[in-house]
Amino acid sequence: MHPDDEFLKAMAGDPQVRRLRRGGPERVAARPVAPEPDVALAPPTPGPPSLSARLHEAEEARDAERAEAHAAQAQVRALAERLSANEVAAAEREAAHDALHRQLAEAQAARQTLETDRKSLLGQIGSLHEQLTQARDRAAAADAAARRAVPLWDVLEALALPSPVTRFAQALAHVEPSRADKTVRHLFTSQPDELRHLLTDKVAWVCAGCRSGATHECVIEVAPEDCDVCGGSSIVAAARRFTDACRRADCRRVLIVGGSPRYHAQLTAALQADGLELTLVEGNRKLPAAQARQLCDRAHRGFIWGPTILDHAVSGLFQGSRIQTVHVRGITRFLDEAARLLGQPVATR
Ligand SMILES: [Zn+2]
Repeated sequence: MHPDDEFLKAMAGDPQVRRLRRGGPERVAARPVAPEPDVALAPPTPGPPSLSARLHEAEEARDAERAEAHAAQAQVRALAERLSANEVAAAEREAAHDALHRQLAEAQAARQTLETDRKSLLGQIGSLHEQLTQARDRAAAADAAARRAVPLWDVLEALALPSPVTRFAQALAHVEPSRADKTVRHLFTSQPDELRHLLTDKVAWVCAGCRSGATHECVIEVAPEDCDVCGGSSIVAAARRFTDACRRADCRRVLIVGGSPRYHAQLTAALQADGLELTLVEGNRKLPAAQARQLCDRAHRGFIWGPTILDHAVSGLFQGSRIQTVHVRGITRFLDEAARLLGQPVATR
């Protein structure tokens, strides 16, 4: 449709549109017009900024830079702290690592020591085993030798000696003393008490001066220094030394266990000192234990005369701190040894 026609039609349809007055133009040319363009407001043209504004701007820029610098410093500090913390942690880890290493080294050293000890102990055990085996072997050999022991008589008889015992005794008496000792050391007796009895009770070795007092079955005359009784010195003198020792030790009651009746008679005769009470017990006399104890309690000092006729059952009854054993043969030697013991203090009850 032509714009004019379109306009006319719109006018005709609108009741508000009045007709033009008479005389006016028949027609009014209308021409569509372009819509009015939006007129944008141009921004006001700024004038040159003022000095204070510029100053303000500069200050703001400076503050912003400062804040930025500040933030950067804080960041650097934080990073430095983290770095430092990391370094500390690393140092701690290293220290812990070193400590573990040391502990490991110590443990290894301890293990080494234990191993050495173990080897040493194993060696000792082995050595002890060996010693034990050797000792067993020796014991077995000794047993075998003992089982093989032949009575002396059999040996002498096999030699077809006339008077074999006499020949044997003569041989011992005439060979080197060391050889005789060696020979006798290898002899064994199954009757030791019998042998003791023979050599202490049946046979006496006395000097010419003491011979008259000997009552043994067999009396063998020897030089005075070998005499069983006097030992080459005066019994009277020995008895005096003994009684002097008793006085010094304040010992007034003496007990002597062992010795033959003959020796007892000689001791009694020799020791008749003032105020000395002498109790003599024969070595083979069976005493009730209570009586033996009573005698021990009463005596200030007691002497068991070892190398005389002396049953173990008897000597075993006489015990105590003031009872001592004298290991010499002969009266004078006995008295001198007893005097020496009297000079030594003993524990008192
Ligand atoms: Zn004599």
